[in-house]
Amino acid sequence: MKIATPSKAVTARLHQDLLGWFAAAARPLPWREGYLPYHVWVSEIMLQQTQMERGVTYFRRWIKRFPNIATLAAASEEEVLKEWEGLGYYSRARNLHAAAQCMVRDFAGQLPDSLPELLKLPGVGKYTARAIASIAFQQDYPVVDGNVERLFARLFAIDEPVKSPAAQSTIWALAEALLPSGQARQWNQALMEFGALLCGRAAPCCNLCPVTDLCESFQTGTAAMRPVTGEAQKGIVVNFVVAVIVAEQRIYVQQRPAGVRWASLWEFPGGHLEDGAPPAEAVIRAVQEETQFVIETQIPLPVVRHAYTKYRATLYPFLCHLPSPILPTLHTAQNYRWLPLPDLERLAFSAGHRQIISRLSKVSDLNRIAGLPE
Ligand code: SF4
Repeated sequence: MKIATPSKAVTARLHQDLLGWFAAAARPLPWREGYLPYHVWVSEIMLQQTQMERGVTYFRRWIKRFPNIATLAAASEEEVLKEWEGLGYYSRARNLHAAAQCMVRDFAGQLPDSLPELLKLPGVGKYTARAIASIAFQQDYPVVDGNVERLFARLFAIDEPVKSPAAQSTIWALAEALLPSGQARQWNQALMEFGALLCGRAAPCCNLCPVTDLCESFQTGTAAMRPVTGEAQKGIVVNFVVAVIVAEQRIYVQQRPAGVRWASLWEFPGGHLEDGAPPAEAVIRAVQEETQFVIETQIPLPVVRHAYTKYRATLYPFLCHLPSPILPTLHTAQNYRWLPLPDLERLAFSAGHRQIISRLSKVSDLNRIAGLPE
């Protein structure tokens, strides 16, 4: 399906009305105060797969802890992951860290302002490089995110699935054609903000929209049918058993090795739960294989459910008592600690294991629950 390039008159109206709307309605986001390149870059990485409100909270905390590229580059990976804890997709934090070190090494501690150089930074792809070049450095590059895809699909009645190559090529061509010279910072944000706030995913607020007369979907009563998304992907179900092992009022945690999902984050030991296997038996086996600890008492803790990338995970946590003395030489993890519960706050865990910790915090006496003598 070929979409005609909007006429000069339509383009001028879109510029006037959407830029006017943005000037009046733009949210006062912290990275919009001065548009410092470091702030714009961090916000763009942080907001991938993160809701705005949550992103703003993390952004403020992050900037307080790492106020500039130099402090981020000098931090340890553990400190960086701790600040990111709870946001998920931890490769984003590692990429920020690696990119900051690259900027200190190769760009005198500054964010490069050319698109080819931005594209060389870890974690910076086509969208992010253009967002930084246009929003931080006011260069004339269009950007297309999910909000722009949805807005264009409705405005211009695009009927192919928005992620299909055909629709992507149409949407990027429209974004190029509509970009007002010298106003990329405001225009790109206006499109994304308009898509997020007015032409939203659930139901577009057409009654507040200044361009209903230009919107083909509104004119034909088909806004609810777009964007066409194609078949919804079902999540892959995965189940795990997890052991919170208590000995001498301390809890065993181990650090995930490099090169695996959630590398360097901390976790409780455990393993996959096969279909049909009783979790209480599986946890004993999993702990023995992973740590060689022979646990005895297992008390089921509330089940934790969480989703990440394409997975829907269910964690079956157990509070376990280790009766024999702690023998560090027996476990197989490269890095491990035995810590009192409050000290777990200092380490970075994945979201699922952090949920287990928050439930543990409600257990007033771990030793008693785990069956140890008081
Ligand atoms: S009229 Fe409705 S569907 Fe069309 S652009 Fe405006 S808000 Fe979106």
